[in-house]
Amino acid sequence: MTRPQDILRPDVLAMTCYPVPNSTGLVKLDAMENPYRLPAKLAAELGERLADVALNRYPEPRPTALLEKIKFAMQVPAACEVLLGNGSDELISMMSTACAKPGAKVVAPVPGFVMYAMSAKFAQLEFIGVPLNADFTLDADALIAAIETHAPALVYLAYPNNPTGTLYDDADIERVIAAASKSLVVIDEAYQPFAQQSWLPRAADFDNVVVMRTMSKLGLAGIRLGYLAGKASWTTEFDKVRPPYNVNVLTQAAADFMLDHLDVLDAQAAELRTERTHLEDAIKALPGATVFPSAGNFLLVRVPDAAVVFETLLTSRVLVKNVSKMHPLLANCVRLTVGSAEENAQMIAALKLALH
Ligand SMILES: *Cc1c(COP(=O)(O)O)cnc(C)c1O
Repeated sequence: MTRPQDILRPDVLAMTCYPVPNSTGLVKLDAMENPYRLPAKLAAELGERLADVALNRYPEPRPTALLEKIKFAMQVPAACEVLLGNGSDELISMMSTACAKPGAKVVAPVPGFVMYAMSAKFAQLEFIGVPLNADFTLDADALIAAIETHAPALVYLAYPNNPTGTLYDDADIERVIAAASKSLVVIDEAYQPFAQQSWLPRAADFDNVVVMRTMSKLGLAGIRLGYLAGKASWTTEFDKVRPPYNVNVLTQAAADFMLDHLDVLDAQAAELRTERTHLEDAIKALPGATVFPSAGNFLLVRVPDAAVVFETLLTSRVLVKNVSKMHPLLANCVRLTVGSAEENAQMIAALKLALH
């Protein structure tokens, strides 16, 4: 009898699954989801649209009309092509797979988005994390030194970064791109709706840059749609390792519909930006809490004891993310997703108890 231990990679056997805590009955402020549903009338219209979808057919692998709509709506430069992923997580996985030559490496600032390192590990690429400065700004000199030492295939820059919320300096990013002349720099703009700053208009200005976006943080986390904009020389190659039919027909139809109603999602993002300011001000007024500036729909907060804060919030039925063990720079930090006004009020009330 064959056991998994007999045939699987030892590093896979040693892994644990990506943890997703049970959130039943909790105010869910741990995963940067948009708290708002679609307006009822729009949801009903979407339902009708989805009812028309031919579920018996495989999805179009390169849905021309949807791609054109994305390019137009997101003002993707004319010199760029767009590649779709089942969430941007899948795009990261495709890039890792395509670059997985023996000895190939990935460099990214840490603490950063965990999927860069995980995806590298899955594809057996070496991941090199370069610590941010203590205030979570980019240590551009250290990053450039790492790029020069390791000549990585991929360099990830989350703009803004998760879990810190930092928008790196444009001049620093320019220096990194120039130093990474033998690498591909992936600028991850998952939080662009909350940052309102973007490298997408410049995506075609460099031969070694692609820009990644997602519909997830904009309010459509459930449909799983990410996209990569870059020169065709890159997207054509990554397309070769895309699992066929990776973006299902319901996702394609929902995205196509919602791109005609981006005003609704944009208005929700604007509300969340206002809520972010309110939340930041409220937390600043609490004893012992330090809030870091964030361009995302979340705030990174340092507290005297992150474990106590996490548990006290949970007792008040508020679920946040304790990131304090993710990296030494994040000691005693929790990450709070910006929710609706009511959810944020509940979180603040619980935080007050915790910091009392
Ligand atoms: C949430 C997030 C993503 C998102 O991924 P999807 O798979 O598109 O949901 C990508 N990058 C960063 C930095 C994120 O925080």
